[in-house]
Amino acid sequence: MESNKPGLTAEMISIEEALRIIKNNIPDPVGQEYEIADAVGRLLAEDISAPEPSPRFTNSAMDGYAVRWEDVREATPDAPVSLKVVGESQAGFPFQGMVRTGETVRISTGAMLAPGCDTVVRVEDTEEQDGRVRILAVKKQGQDVRYQGEEFQAGDLLLARRTKISAPHAALLAAVGVTRVKAYRPCEVAVLVTGSELVSSGEKIAEHQIRDSNMLMLKAAIEESGGKVTSCRRVVDEEQATVEAIGQARADIILCTGGVSVGRHDHVKDAAEANGYRPLFWKIRQKPGKPLYFARKEATLLFGLPGNPVSAFMCFAHYVRPVITALNGLPFGWPTVSGEAADDITNKGSRTNMVRVQLTWRQNGGYCITHAEKQGSHMLTSLSEADGYLILEPGQTLSRGERGDVYRYDFRREPV
Ligand code: AMP
Ligand code: MG
Repeated sequence: MESNKPGLTAEMISIEEALRIIKNNIPDPVGQEYEIADAVGRLLAEDISAPEPSPRFTNSAMDGYAVRWEDVREATPDAPVSLKVVGESQAGFPFQGMVRTGETVRISTGAMLAPGCDTVVRVEDTEEQDGRVRILAVKKQGQDVRYQGEEFQAGDLLLARRTKISAPHAALLAAVGVTRVKAYRPCEVAVLVTGSELVSSGEKIAEHQIRDSNMLMLKAAIEESGGKVTSCRRVVDEEQATVEAIGQARADIILCTGGVSVGRHDHVKDAAEANGYRPLFWKIRQKPGKPLYFARKEATLLFGLPGNPVSAFMCFAHYVRPVITALNGLPFGWPTVSGEAADDITNKGSRTNMVRVQLTWRQNGGYCITHAEKQGSHMLTSLSEADGYLILEPGQTLSRGERGDVYRYDFRREPV
């Protein structure tokens, strides 16, 4: 029988263990039908096969004359072949009759090849006069003809599942008459900010109060990661209010901040469990962001981020963002970039350190990594003045000139 409170010991787990638990608990992304216009930017949740061939009908690649090869094969500038113009096949208005020996029809690009014809001669190689046209030059039978199905046949795979639908994909779908596709719907996130000391930025503030920076930060980070914010609420540090707020939140991920430490006024863990969430871990051997809490109830995941904005953001970047991307149908991963340390960077602490760094692009190519000056977990400038973070184990040094992977804060870059 599984313990009712797994992981809720004082013991800290490693980053790898936390990631393993999170990955094991991510539900499958959910596919939904969309109009093509609304599916752009989303990932296909199904393979799309061509419902019809392309080209749909055999047509002309040039403005010119549709001819029978047997009639024109000997044509040269010195000995042109003269044909009678019996009609026209225009884009949108095909020629209705049959072209016989010694006859031709004018044809425009994309127009249906006239029955009886097998070749197109471009205007530049002809001279028309008094209802007849002189064919001055030809290369081969079938020239400038686009054959039905030469690009793809009905039933061929057009777009594979997990293709991110871009403008050309939308055009391709429109071209074959596909109007709706199944794509992964965006991961929905409900934000719940806890703290009786908080007031909104811009509100009148008393000396003992704190401006709430987490709500705006998380909303922006969720949206930048491709998630959809379903609600944003602030709740005071009272158990009943926290229980109710968690109970009312509807989303794939309930993202709480604050109230996950050991203080008497920290209620997120108990409130989650009162709502039927099963705790999966609490506390990671890392700095910053140690008291991260993770729980699950059926397909809903709940993260209790530390209240400290720097810790909250670091936990979001490393643990929540990859879940959002996975629920959007993308790989679980991070946007990273490799760089070379400008100087020795050492983790002198006893926990794994997410060291905030700056990246500089050098003239000769490649990124140079510098240790951001401010690292205080109470200093938001430690984030705003950094481009990302390195993960260093206790005692580990990234020596000057050594290469390291930087986890970028530029969330719009997708993991590869
Ligand atoms: P907590 O995790 O609730 O103990 O909060 C840790 C620290 O972060 C406290 O100093 C809080 O005042 C601060 N804090 C918590 N939530 C926020 C927030 N939304 N915006 C800014 N600071 C916060
Ligand atoms: Mg608090």
